[in-house]
Amino acid sequence: MNLGISALEYVRQVGAGQLSAEEFMACTLERIKKHDELGAYISTDESCINMARAVDKKIRTGQKVGACLGMPVSVKDNICIRGAKTTCASRMLQDYVAPYDATAIQRLRKKDAIFVGKTNLDEFAMGFTTEFSSYGPSRNPWNQEYVPGGSSGGSAVAVAANQCIVSLGSDTGGSVRNPASFCGVVGFKPTYGTVSRYGLVSYANSIEQIGPITRTVGDAAFVMNIISGYDPHDNTTLQNDTDYLDGIDAGIEGKKIGIVREMTAGMEEPVAKAMSDAVSTIEELGASCVDMSIDMMQYAVASYYTITSTEAASNLARYDNLRYGFDMPMDGYEFNTYISRARGRFGPEVIRRMILGGLVPSAGHAGRYFLKALKVKARLARQIKRAFETVDLLLTPTVPVMPFKIGSRLDDPVSLFAVDVNTVTANLTGIPAISVPFAHENGLPIGMQIMGRQMHDRQVLQAAYALEQQATLPEMIL
Ligand code: GLN
Repeated sequence: MNLGISALEYVRQVGAGQLSAEEFMACTLERIKKHDELGAYISTDESCINMARAVDKKIRTGQKVGACLGMPVSVKDNICIRGAKTTCASRMLQDYVAPYDATAIQRLRKKDAIFVGKTNLDEFAMGFTTEFSSYGPSRNPWNQEYVPGGSSGGSAVAVAANQCIVSLGSDTGGSVRNPASFCGVVGFKPTYGTVSRYGLVSYANSIEQIGPITRTVGDAAFVMNIISGYDPHDNTTLQNDTDYLDGIDAGIEGKKIGIVREMTAGMEEPVAKAMSDAVSTIEELGASCVDMSIDMMQYAVASYYTITSTEAASNLARYDNLRYGFDMPMDGYEFNTYISRARGRFGPEVIRRMILGGLVPSAGHAGRYFLKALKVKARLARQIKRAFETVDLLLTPTVPVMPFKIGSRLDDPVSLFAVDVNTVTANLTGIPAISVPFAHENGLPIGMQIMGRQMHDRQVLQAAYALEQQATLPEMIL
């Protein structure tokens, strides 16, 4: 069975009675087991086979079925599914069972999506490679010695390796787009406020969004139609009834695309080549590219890590073993010793961020670090707004470097921070951004990123769709 079909193709075939949801589900579960070495999943749910059978029955007997028709969906393990473990790949939450569904999950469930399992991530979504998971790293299915990107690495691996059709990830500074780029799939970070964060375990809640990781741009639009919209449980969500699929093939003729100098500096050779091919392709499609500078971008990474560490330190203060997570006996400990022992269960990257996040906003330091970071964020937002007065979209490589070997950058965490240079701007300014697979070099994928104005998510999807149609990419042979 071809498990590598798009979501739209899946619903077409199942809807037409040409494909059984149960059979598809059974093969998907088998595939997950067969390629367990990829480390894409933290947990799976065997009962989804019964749910798929129920969908088939509904179709056979002419009952109403939701638009997903039993499609296997995987979910990053920092998004709550009622009754399932939500570990955030942390020993701190290794036994935490979520008592409720995230809003995005509830919406997909209503449409008869089936959740096959929870995917691997960097602990609490902090990282770039999925190596900072207490469950071990995920592996890039194109070459298993290489990182799949992160932090939603498990999600991107699962979609690329045909271990589900679509996945939900979370993107605080690129965590949906980076792994999508490294694994050769699509990753979409919508405008801030488009998708409810209710049920997403907070890392830096002022800038992060849940986003779809899919095989095609059309599938990302399809998922967005289901998961987006106002939610009374998240007061940052916006009223919005956009149909993301509508006009997705409109093309980009006549559009002006900005190529930002600060986002094309420091590209590795194959990435630079892919970028210049993407520019030619876009021009062939009738759009024009203009060179521009957004100088605040050079401070974006520093601002991002200052702000996110601060929010992380505050958000993660709740994990003290008194309310969530594992059960450490209290006997014999004095209070402070108990709390610090309990919090010692965090991994080194999370601890690093919390130490940083405790320092930068503290009295005596805030002016030099935290407030300055907020100023950069505000200025960057103004510069981005101004840029979009002259261009419709921005094009960059999603990541300036090629996927690298597992373990090769672990001793230099700051060099990992720098790899986020092209993705964090969309989070800091709330704008929509997508990574679309565009090239392959030495058997490893390269993704292009398209960004647009706030609430212009549809235009971003349209441009990505146009670029996607022009890319010729190899099939996954694993
Ligand atoms: N690499 C970034 C970080 O570690 C992005 C993480 C994310 O988007 N969740 O913070």
